[in-house]
Amino acid sequence: MLFKEIPGLQELKDQLISAADQNQVAHAQLFAGQPGSPNLAMAIAFATYLNCVNRQSDGPCGSCASCSKSLKHIHPDIHFVFPVCGTKTVESKDARSRVFLKEWRQFITDNPYGTVEEWTEAFGGQDKQAFISVEESREVIRDLSLMAFEENYKVEIIWLPELMRKEGANALLKILEEPPGRTVFLLVSNHPDSLLATITSRMQYVHVRKFSDNEIILYLTEKLGLDEVRAARLSNLADGDLHNALFLTQNIEDNAHDWFREWMRLCFARDLGKLVQFADEFHAMNKVARKSILQYGINMMRESLVATVANSLCRVEGEEKKFVQNFSKVLNEDKIHMIYEKINTSIYHLERNANAKIKFLNLSVSISRIFNN
Ligand SMILES: [Zn+2]
Repeated sequence: MLFKEIPGLQELKDQLISAADQNQVAHAQLFAGQPGSPNLAMAIAFATYLNCVNRQSDGPCGSCASCSKSLKHIHPDIHFVFPVCGTKTVESKDARSRVFLKEWRQFITDNPYGTVEEWTEAFGGQDKQAFISVEESREVIRDLSLMAFEENYKVEIIWLPELMRKEGANALLKILEEPPGRTVFLLVSNHPDSLLATITSRMQYVHVRKFSDNEIILYLTEKLGLDEVRAARLSNLADGDLHNALFLTQNIEDNAHDWFREWMRLCFARDLGKLVQFADEFHAMNKVARKSILQYGINMMRESLVATVANSLCRVEGEEKKFVQNFSKVLNEDKIHMIYEKINTSIYHLERNANAKIKFLNLSVSISRIFNN
């Protein structure tokens, strides 16, 4: 990953480049950012820059021997630790990052803004909860103590340390305080609040903000060739989450809005007969289409919440704007927030293979109640 492959966030790139150039690289850094932010991408680009032998003003050169290895994620001095679990072919007790390196390299190449659920699906963990085991933490410490230290930076990138077992996190404390040689720990977290305070107090905090609307629009138009209007619409819906924007780009059907609006109307009217029909339709969709509809619903609820505060802050246009304005007139902030939470929880359960028809019907009944209470 090169800095220039990540859209925007120039201020952070400059800050990282300058720290490396001045040889002021903190040995333990926490790249914190919400899901869909480029915190993992930034950490990988930074690791690539640290060991590039032909550093450029805008980041790693991308073509020296070190960069060539970094770009394939096979650099011997850049190590990855990430959540894993047992699969059909790997027993739980043997699940370690190094066992799934091949899948990991493919995943971060295809989907550097991906979620832990997508990662789990990619390596065959199905709907199990992936985590970083105690044994894994111990192996990191052992490997570092056995390593020969040269001029190069040894970079340990730990993705989602919040999924590390507490005992394992405790074991890491000492080495985070005093890593051997030129070791740099980059912990990449989506939920830094759930990390042990004893860990975060030892880290230099690097805030990786979400993308701005313009950065996402630029990415969608320049890299994917979308027209400006569609890019702007998707960027608004995605709210700074590039992963979400890419998901919507690939999956949202043009009729998602009509379908969603009709569903809300049926919930409002408590038309159970038609809602059962809708549940059948929902059940017949594939997993991605279902998520796409619900994700669309989440985005519309968020815009409706904004509209309850001020219509002028609302970022959608046309039919969607009309929907959001009406919705925010009929329902108060609390109710919209409740619907948002209900849809969000349903996405979570559907990702874990809940029955789609039952889940959808339950969700519809809950939303009807919120409407009519
Ligand atoms: Zn290079």
